[in-house]
Formats: sequence, structure tokens, C-alpha cells
Amino acid sequence: MTPDLLEAGAQRTHAAQARRVTHPTESGGRTPSFGRVRQHHELDLTHGRILYLEDVCVSFDGFRAINQLSLDIAPGELRCIIGPNGAGKTTLMDIITGKTRPDSGRVFFGSTIDLLRHTEPEIAQMGIGRKFQKPTVFEPLTVFENLELALKTHKGVGASLVFRLQGEQRDRLAQVLSTIGLIEQAHQLAGRLSHGQKQWLEIGMLLMQEPKLLLLDEPVAGMTDFETERTAELFLKLKGQHTLMVVEHDMSFIEQISDIVTVLCEGAVLAQGPLAQVQANERVIEVYLGR
Ligand code: ADP
Ligand code: MG
Repeated sequence: MTPDLLEAGAQRTHAAQARRVTHPTESGGRTPSFGRVRQHHELDLTHGRILYLEDVCVSFDGFRAINQLSLDIAPGELRCIIGPNGAGKTTLMDIITGKTRPDSGRVFFGSTIDLLRHTEPEIAQMGIGRKFQKPTVFEPLTVFENLELALKTHKGVGASLVFRLQGEQRDRLAQVLSTIGLIEQAHQLAGRLSHGQKQWLEIGMLLMQEPKLLLLDEPVAGMTDFETERTAELFLKLKGQHTLMVVEHDMSFIEQISDIVTVLCEGAVLAQGPLAQVQANERVIEVYLGR
């Protein structure tokens, strides 16, 4: 497709999204779905939480990596998680995505889906996408083909089968290209992208799967200042449409995107609140920010 056609498709999808009712709630989320019959595994947001962890503990060989951690996130929120190395930030993501099983505690997606009863692939299928630190795009394929592949993989269509993008999927792909700012690079090989562009492509591949919750571990590590700023803009665009949990050390980036910041230390929440508030917290200064 040419950039013109891609742009037109992106606009159609943007317009369709704007037509959907999305009244933000006080907590930044969407209107709860009262009065509907819920399907099996459909996300129930009636309690205003998309993710809920309670008293979670994980030990590795007797070492408590996560220690009675409780945390909840509202739908549409962009939550930043900061904290010293070894605080348990990556382990927290491993628990949510089903990679690590906690020894005790509760982990819920919406009010009804008990994530501890599901496997890693099931959790991904339910709409929790995860971006690891290192980009894992397919370098010999174009940007467009990478996004197409993400859609096929998600739909479970074998790569060898004839698979044609439906109109709606084409528009969606175009919209994702526009969101991640890679329309011009659509037919460029992914291997030729800059580090930052590869990271955006990988985020785009996650977006093709229409995740409700996106977990991003140190997304701007290794990016130039320019790329970091574009990434902040991207996340602010995604917020509301998706719920984001972002682990980062780059404080100027956190400053640009943050709403509520959670400080993790020794596997538990040390402080939580607006950035200015946690930055002024004595204990946070001591263990993480320094004087
Ligand atoms: P962070 O991402 O905040 O830097 P991690 O979640 O990676 O911290 O690690 C928290 C603690 O748990 C660290 O002390 C780390 O060494 C330990 N840890 C993490 N994963 C494992 C594992 N699979 N086996 C043993 N120890 C682990
Ligand atoms: Mg980590």
C-alpha cells in the first residue's frame, strides 16, 4: 500500500474509534459495562480496576523477590513503576504474564479473571501484551510484513496458509503504522531501522493484537533523546485506549508521561502517588533517587 492509502485507512480507524463511547471515569478509565451479560473471559471493569494484585509473594531459593505486594491499576491508566535494581519490577511483569507463579497472593485481570489459573499463552490471548527490553522484530521482513505477521500469529493462522488481510485489518494496520510514526518506513526492511524505530515497531506488533493492558520494561533504554521524546508522545497517545504499565529508570521520560508513579523496593510498594510527591519522599530519596 502507498503512504496515501495507509493514511486514509488510519483516518477511517481513528474516526471509528472516536465514534465509540469512551467517557473517561474519575480514575482515568472507561465507563464500566453495567447491565450486559458478560461472555466467558470478557473483561469485567465494574470495580474500576483492570489489574489487581493482593499480598503477592515470590521467593527464589529462599530469597523474597516479591514481598506481600499489593497494587491496582485503573483502566486506561499509564502507570509508571520505578525503583532500584533488584526491586522486583521485572518479576512483577513475569507474574502478571504468567511466566512466574507466585507462592501466595491474588492476581486478577478485571474483577473476574484470576490470572493465576491461566497459562502464559492464555494470558497473552486475553489481552495482556508485553514488551521486553530488547527489540525482537523480524529483520529480513519489512515493517508492514512484521505488523501483518503479528496479526497472523495472534489469530493463530499458520504462516503457510493463504492469509489475506480483510479491509478492517488493513485499516487497523495502517492506523498502527501511523500511531507508531512509521508510515514512511512501511516498506523498509526492519533490519534497517534505528534502535528506536525497532522499538516502536515492536510496540506496533503488540498493538496489532489489540491488547487491553501493555507491560513495557525499560522501553527507552538505549534510545536517543529525540527517540525518547517521540516515545513519550506515543505512550501519551496510547493511554486511555490501552492501559500501560511502564518500568523505566529515565526520570526525564517518567516526568513527561507520568500520572501515578509506584516506587518498588525489596519486592513491595515503598511509595505511590504523583511524581513530585514520591520524589519528595525521604525513603524514596534514600533508596533510589539519592541526594
Ligand atoms: P528489577 O527488574 O527491579 O531490577 P528483578 O525482578 O529482575 O528486579 O529481580 C528481583 C530479585 O529477584 C533480584 O534480586 C533478582 O536477582 C531475583 N530474581 C529474579 N528472577 C530470578 C530467578 N529466575 N531466579 C532467581 N532469582 C531471581
Ligand atoms: Mg528489570
